[in-house]
Parts: sequence; structure tokens; C-alpha cells
Amino acid sequence: MKPKIGFMGLGIMGAPMAANILKAGYPLTVYNRTAAKAEPLAKLGAQVAASPKALAQDAQIIVAMVTGPEALYELLFGPEGAAEAFGPEQVFINMSSVSPSFTLELGKELAPTAIRFVDAPVSGTKKPAEDGALVILAGGNRQRVQELEPLFLTMGKKVIYCGKTGQGSMMKMFINLLLGLMMEGFAEALNFGRLGGLDLEAMLETVASGAMNAPMFQVKAANFRDQKFQAAFPLKHLAKDAKFVVDTAYELGAPVPAGQMLLHLYRLGVAQGWGDEDISAIAKVMEFLSPPK
Ligand code: NAP
Repeated sequence: MKPKIGFMGLGIMGAPMAANILKAGYPLTVYNRTAAKAEPLAKLGAQVAASPKALAQDAQIIVAMVTGPEALYELLFGPEGAAEAFGPEQVFINMSSVSPSFTLELGKELAPTAIRFVDAPVSGTKKPAEDGALVILAGGNRQRVQELEPLFLTMGKKVIYCGKTGQGSMMKMFINLLLGLMMEGFAEALNFGRLGGLDLEAMLETVASGAMNAPMFQVKAANFRDQKFQAAFPLKHLAKDAKFVVDTAYELGAPVPAGQMLLHLYRLGVAQGWGDEDISAIAKVMEFLSPPK
């Protein structure tokens, strides 16, 4: 029999991930701070918990997919927090993107509850989440991760075992450093070409025709064409992750000069009020820094 799942956090990513768990036949209870976001899941057949604690009391595996540390602390240790109901027979999976050191800290804080803890952030945005095609980056006990694979494969197409607790978060920071650099590089180059008088379509065709092509550039090209940056991955979340990258790099002594610049540029985007737009709105930051049209 499939275990009972409790899913907290029904944002851009969490809502479709939870829906896919439900569609795969797992009994599902959901919780979201803004209750209205649970309604579509309830219509699909999920139970809706009144609090994180009530959710944890009714589930064998508890999943969190929220913004980051502050949200996790609120849901786990805030009023009616889930951790109050955690016990040794349950598993807690954090799928939110956080730093590896935060994951280790969280593991220590959860230790008194004896719950089994796995960090499993994801690579992929809204569309792969809807399609159940995420890549799951799992850290923790290897056997436990293997046991969770059927659940993970309701949300993703692949599970990559990254190592002990915290290494899932490390892999997520690794891939998001690359993502941020690629997105910024694409926007910077297109803006450079624009100021040099190149036609956008000709630049996109040049990228698509050579070794520089990447699926992400193809997905985001439409945003540059339409100058519409509706969030698949909100820019503010990449700013958050750039901070985690820079902090982690400092702890490791790893040089991330371009990562430092990324943090600055994405923060600038947030300061300009574009945090809820897509990461490709980094194009607006490039234009903002350019001579007026
Ligand atoms: P989102 O749409 O902004 O949703 C954030 C979720 O966190 C919502 O459920 C929100 O609840 C909840 N939340 C925020 N602050 C909270 C608090 N203080 N207390 C309780 N709940 C709180 O974010 P998302 O895009 O789904 O991203 C979720 C996580 O996945 C993030 O760590 C992000 O970096 C990561 N991620 C995102 C993508 C992507 O493409 N979007 C891809 C990979 C990974 P409310 O509804 O009440 O605001």
C-alpha cells in the first residue's frame, strides 16, 4: 500500500508536484499558508490540513516545497508547526532550495524528533514540474533515498543521488550557479548585440545554429522576443540562491567571481521591483544599465 503523503507549499512548483503525487495514487494531504491555493488540489481529491501540525499527524512522508529557510522554520517550528508531530516512523523531505549549511543545521534541529530526513531539491522549472519531468537531487541515507524513488518518480523523470545529507542542496547550488550564469550571459550578450545594432532574430538564430545553443536559451527566447517575463522561476528566488552560492563558496574557499556579480545583478533586479518576474527579466537589468533608447 502506498504511504500517506503530506505536502506543504503549493506555489509555482509545489502545486503541480503535489498534483502529480495525487495522480500517481498516493493518499495526499496538503497545507499552504495562503489557504486558497489548496483549493485546486482539494478538487483533485487531496485532503486539506488546517495546520502544518495537523498535516504531519496524518502523514508517513512529509514533503516541503517552499521559498527557503524562513518559510521552512515557520512551517516546522512556528505555531502549530509540523515538527511538533514528527516521530521516528516518519520521513521528512525538504525539496525547497536552501544552502547545504542550512540543510545540516536543519538536520540537527530535527534530530530530537528522530524523524528521518532527506534533502531533495529539484532541477527544472514550472513546465517540468507539471510534466513530472523534474530531476530530483537527493542527499541523505542512500537506502532511504532508494526507498523514496517511487515517490520521487511521480514528480521527476530521474533521481540523482548526490551523497550524504546536505549534498542535495550542494548540487542544487552548483546547478543554479550555472543556470544564473547562463541566463545572465544570454541576456548580457543579447543586450550587447542590440546596442551594436544587431537584429534580435538574427542573434537568436546565430545562437541556435551553433555550439552555444542550449535548451534553456530556446525556452527563454520567447520572453526576449515578446519582452514579457512571466515567472516560471521567479528572479527573486535566483537572487536568494545566488546568496546561498556566495555564502557556501566563502565557507569552502571556492572562487566564484562571476557568482558574486550574479548576486549583485539579480539583487538589482529585485530592487527595481522585478523579483516576481522570471529570471530572464535579468534582461531588464541589462537595459537599465544601458544608455537610454
Ligand atoms: P513560489 O511560487 O514563490 O511559492 C513559495 C511557497 O512558499 C508558497 O507555497 C508560499 O506560501 C510558501 N511560503 C513562503 N514564505 C512562507 C512563510 N513565511 N511561511 C509559510 N509558507 C511560506 O515558489 P516556487 O517557485 O514554487 O519555489 C519553491 C522552491 O523551489 C524555492 O526554494 C525555489 O527556489 C525552488 N525552485 C523553484 C523553481 C522554479 O522554477 N520556480 C525551480 C526549482 C526550484 P504562500 O502561497 O502563502 O505565499
